[in-house]
Amino acid sequence: MTKPISNLRNFTIGRGTELRCKGWRQEGMLRMLENTIANGEKPEELIIYGGSGKAARNWESYHAIVETLKALENDETMVIQSGKPVAVFRTHEDCSRVLCANTNLVGKWATWDHYRMLEAKGLMMYGQYTAGTWAYIGTQGILQGTYETFAACGKQMPEGDLRGRIVLTAGLGGMGGAQPLAVKMAGGVCIAVEVDRSRAERRVDTGYCDLICDDPAQAMALAREAAQNGRQLGIALIGNAAELLPRLRTMGLKPAIVTDQTSAHDPLNGYVPAGLALSEATTLREKDPGEYTRRSLDSMSAHIRAMLDFQRDGAIVFEYGNYLRGHARENGVANAFDIGGFVPMFIRPSFSRGRGPLRWICLSGDEADLRTTDATVQAEFSDDPLLRTWMDMAREKVAIQGLPARTCWLGMGERERLGALLNDLVRSGKVAAPLVISRDHLDTGSVAQPTRETEAMKDGTDAVADWPLLNALLNAACGADLVTIHQGAGSGMGGSISAGHLLVADGSEGAARRLAKCLHVDPGIGVIRHADAGYEDAIAARDAAGMRDPMQPA
Ligand code: NAD
Repeated sequence: MTKPISNLRNFTIGRGTELRCKGWRQEGMLRMLENTIANGEKPEELIIYGGSGKAARNWESYHAIVETLKALENDETMVIQSGKPVAVFRTHEDCSRVLCANTNLVGKWATWDHYRMLEAKGLMMYGQYTAGTWAYIGTQGILQGTYETFAACGKQMPEGDLRGRIVLTAGLGGMGGAQPLAVKMAGGVCIAVEVDRSRAERRVDTGYCDLICDDPAQAMALAREAAQNGRQLGIALIGNAAELLPRLRTMGLKPAIVTDQTSAHDPLNGYVPAGLALSEATTLREKDPGEYTRRSLDSMSAHIRAMLDFQRDGAIVFEYGNYLRGHARENGVANAFDIGGFVPMFIRPSFSRGRGPLRWICLSGDEADLRTTDATVQAEFSDDPLLRTWMDMAREKVAIQGLPARTCWLGMGERERLGALLNDLVRSGKVAAPLVISRDHLDTGSVAQPTRETEAMKDGTDAVADWPLLNALLNAACGADLVTIHQGAGSGMGGSISAGHLLVADGSEGAARRLAKCLHVDPGIGVIRHADAGYEDAIAARDAAGMRDPMQPA
């Protein structure tokens, strides 16, 4: 096997206007792959975020993908199976350039045991959402969604925001690391328990968190003092959530909100059991995976019991999509699902209207391009107060990681407008190089995850996975540059089916055509999915977008 890139400090992301590939569509994907790895949590292992979510199966596959992208003709399509390139087909110019299927196992076989056996033989990888779609842009990718969730919590407070409130959570990894800054943006104070000091340090270094505490009493005192003075503060408290949550409650902490973003979806390679130092956990994981998993599940049970206790105390408590409730219930906590999920509690009305997390990335690597796109988007959507507030805060508070990028929640119709605007910026030379448009899989019509995005659907279709598969088919039919279908993600093995895409805006007529189509069907199938489930705002959005219901007479 090819040796890993030995020193990731030498791992560069392509920037500027020079092409290494035979077209910008291929070059765009190559830069997105490099950007994803460079921003990853453990890049030397190709692990990007979410426990073991990877961008390529191994370094040998990575190098083969890079070489294939460089040689790929403008009428060819590379096929990737769980992070390994397996074929190049002659297709046609308007077709997708890359198609990927990651971590997909037939229903009855979608168990961790079966997956780990295949992974150990080098036959599969875990794609998570944006890792295997090469759309990862660092912690900022999830920041706006996390902010919207905490802002929605704030609306339930008499003051209408989180000013003077303490949020208690855990996990400062690739996604969870967004929590302290998102809480601050929503006005509050955050205590985030994190077992791995290096992760906490990374969040402080990149401006997502303010300070690190080792002493729970000190963290509580600092949080209370900031909350009393209406000041925003993000505190990382080093320790294990399963131990520290019950302890903080015994010590009298009264958070307004409690949630969690440890990698609980993966009890072996994600969650760290209580009672072990990080190094001891690493040793046990390798020596006795069965014992490690048992300890993890017991710790998750203790963790969720503490969250249920905080709920009884009157806090708003929700699971943040990491399957903590599922594992706790399977391990004997019968009432774990008394805690709700964040999508039905806060996000579903956005999804019903086709609103979700779009992002764009400046392939030039030039910050000036980001400023140009920011200004253009703000001018175009100046009548949207939520978007204006978000863009102002993001410009001020979000540090650039890798290629300059911005996230922005947009709805049906708005996404097509954005695609045309950005493509025009490239065509007219107002930005130095093409842009990529993408999104999280956590979106209106691209995921079935019954303990998260599709939890508690109105018609009980939580586990119906036809919708994300249709989403991927539609994106491919409309020529999205890269299309992926994933299984597992944040709910662990067997927990979800989802789809992702990358769209390159290179200023050409072809890009304009593909962008218009993809940015219509992509949220469109989400609106249809929610309309089909009976959500009235989705039916209104469907009608407003002129999408006909074939079951109704014309
Ligand atoms: P990650 O693996 O990058 O980070 C997880 C962090 O949790 C690590 O820093 C780890 O040290 C810490 N941790 C593990 N066990 C702990 C314990 N017992 N106590 C304290 N800290 C502990 O994962 P991530 O990308 O940040 O994602 C975290 C979880 O959130 C995943 O399950 C993921 O699927 C889910 N997720 C949710 C959303 C969302 O929008 N809700 C989005 C993405 C991911």
